[in-house]
Amino acid sequence: MGRLMQLLSAASAPAAWWPGPGEFALPELAPAEPLKVLLVVAHPDDESECAGTLYRITHELGGVVDQVIVTNGEGGRHFSAPALEYYGISRSEEISKELPRLRRKEVVRAGQIIGIRRHYFLGQTDTGFTLDPGEGLRNWDLQRIQRELRSLLRRERYDLVLTLLPAEDTHGHHKAVAVLAVEAVAALPESRRPEVSAVRTGSPVNGRLPRFSELPEFPGTRATSAEPVWSFDRRTPLKQNAALDHSIIVHWVIAEHKSQGMFQMEYGRHTHEYFWQFSTGRAQGQGFWKRLQALSPEERRFTNAEAA
Ligand SMILES: [Zn+2]
Repeated sequence: MGRLMQLLSAASAPAAWWPGPGEFALPELAPAEPLKVLLVVAHPDDESECAGTLYRITHELGGVVDQVIVTNGEGGRHFSAPALEYYGISRSEEISKELPRLRRKEVVRAGQIIGIRRHYFLGQTDTGFTLDPGEGLRNWDLQRIQRELRSLLRRERYDLVLTLLPAEDTHGHHKAVAVLAVEAVAALPESRRPEVSAVRTGSPVNGRLPRFSELPEFPGTRATSAEPVWSFDRRTPLKQNAALDHSIIVHWVIAEHKSQGMFQMEYGRHTHEYFWQFSTGRAQGQGFWKRLQALSPEERRFTNAEAA
């Protein structure tokens, strides 16, 4: 008889029954140390790139996720028109002034959905879209950013530092933040470094995975492999109900960023979160991903038609 059946049959016995203290001792089920993750991003909406994975870590692995947001996001005003009325802003010129406050609220609400424990806002200027990583590196208070990152890393001893992939075609601020995150990890003694990884969303094209090697001129961002070390299918069923999947969480997160009109059209566009590992991080590598992999199977259990 299995252990559960033994307990059930004992519980239904007519005599009063309560297990002694030893009955609860199931050392083989003792949880490992909770995973600790630090997400380091440029803008208050970048967390959506890995919202499904972060939700898994906080809600299904009992892990902890903190987030550092480098800029105020005031550069993201170009597609804010639908949000003006929603937020009660009468003049479109006011939006730039209001954006830091609004976006901070938006990202805190998005963080609540994902289960982010703490947000650290570093208050740097968002100078708008650029492909040049140098723009952020020239304009931000790098000393302050490094000081904050290093102190967090020393204090919290994260297992993983996560940033957005500094791919050639991505925002220059994402590239700059990846460089700064890698530098902060590299400043730690090798034995105390967390793993450091980068994420990008996408959808498989003809079964081919996206590839990445490094951000030119920043060898600290060199990936351990051209293909992602791990990917997460957002259509993976949720633990609470296998007919529902993690794309719901991603859509909730996107919806919180109402000031970012163009971004609101990201619903359902990408099915996967792809992760690369930087060689700067902990040398043994991949331990973190194995723990995620060990969660429930990732097949979709119902098709949409079946669920309808
Ligand atoms: Zn961004």
